[in-house]
Amino acid sequence: MARYAYVNGRYVDHREASVHIEDRGYQLADGVYEVVGVRDGRLIDEEPHLDRLDRSLRELRIGWPVARGTLSFIIRELMRRNRLRDGLIYMQVTRGVARRDHAFPTTPVKPALVLTTKNMKALAADPGPGVAVKSQPDIRWERCDIKSVALLPNVLAKQSARESGAYEAWLVDEAGCVTEGASTNAWIVTPEGELVTRQTDNGILAGITRGTLKVIATDLQLKFVERPFSLVEAKRATEAFVTSATSFVTPVVKIDGETVGNGKPGPTARRLREEYLRFADNGEAVT
Ligand code: PLP
Repeated sequence: MARYAYVNGRYVDHREASVHIEDRGYQLADGVYEVVGVRDGRLIDEEPHLDRLDRSLRELRIGWPVARGTLSFIIRELMRRNRLRDGLIYMQVTRGVARRDHAFPTTPVKPALVLTTKNMKALAADPGPGVAVKSQPDIRWERCDIKSVALLPNVLAKQSARESGAYEAWLVDEAGCVTEGASTNAWIVTPEGELVTRQTDNGILAGITRGTLKVIATDLQLKFVERPFSLVEAKRATEAFVTSATSFVTPVVKIDGETVGNGKPGPTARRLREEYLRFADNGEAVT
């Protein structure tokens, strides 16, 4: 079956989909993106993702390439064409095509819009054995709250983690605190039973999965706290896990080769994963 991509107004064969070489996203990473998880034909948290896209665009003074309702339509049409059941929708907006110059184009340019889909195996409620993470210095810029396509530090951190056999990199700031993962938010459960994740500010991306889990954790009456936590504290935690639109809640059982808790996915991560899947299964099916 042919797979489609959406590129600036057209649904095209994915193998032939391309953008202009002077697209400012390609040349200058002058653009933003979103990833929305899809489970059993349902979009997970579509509206919060589009809200965050709106915020990222406003922060960079890039206009919407199409109306928000039109984007929702395109998402659904691409899902239908690609018969997407489980996986993700990727969407990217750049400032558009212009003669290369660091400053914004002085004549009006239409923002460029690209969407693709990816099929993935549906995640089970059972998290399996859990994953390892590797710490890395957080060398990113000071606007990590913007979901920009400028991801080189994240790419290098993830690659370094993968080369050492870890699933994810945990980024550590100058104070020795874990900010977040290369493409996930980071969480721990302390020996006192606090569920901790870093507060949202310009130092991390406000994950949509993180936001939904915050609501779920509050409903479950867990002791949820938003504050910085150090790498040392993380290594002494009873549980650790990461969250994102595509990994949901994934338990972390090793940090820099040191075992977390008893080395197995803990009860809090398991429970939150189950509850998150229940939430994801509740939406309206598209495909
Ligand atoms: N932090 C970073 C740096 C990310 O790139 C991502 C997702 O790609 C997340 C956190 C998790 O965000 P979300 O839950 O919206 O996928």
